[in-house]
Amino acid sequence: MTMKITIDLEACKGYACCMMEAPDLFDIDDATGKAILLVEHPTEDQREQAERGARSCPANVITLQQIG
Ligand code: SF4
Repeated sequence: MTMKITIDLEACKGYACCMMEAPDLFDIDDATGKAILLVEHPTEDQREQAERGARSCPANVITLQQIG
């Protein structure tokens, strides 16, 4: 099963909760103050971290999709 992470960067408020909850998958761009997606397709082992990161976002702009 393959998962895809997307971030609506227009709506990202740079709270950095995603990076704190899932540092392997998200970072913050110091220049823009917005999130950077480090891994678009997390592995099975990273699934829990991806879900935690998405849940942690106060702006609710991280989407997880099952793509196969
Ligand atoms: S937690 Fe949400 S709003 Fe905050 S930086 Fe991450 S994606 Fe952006």
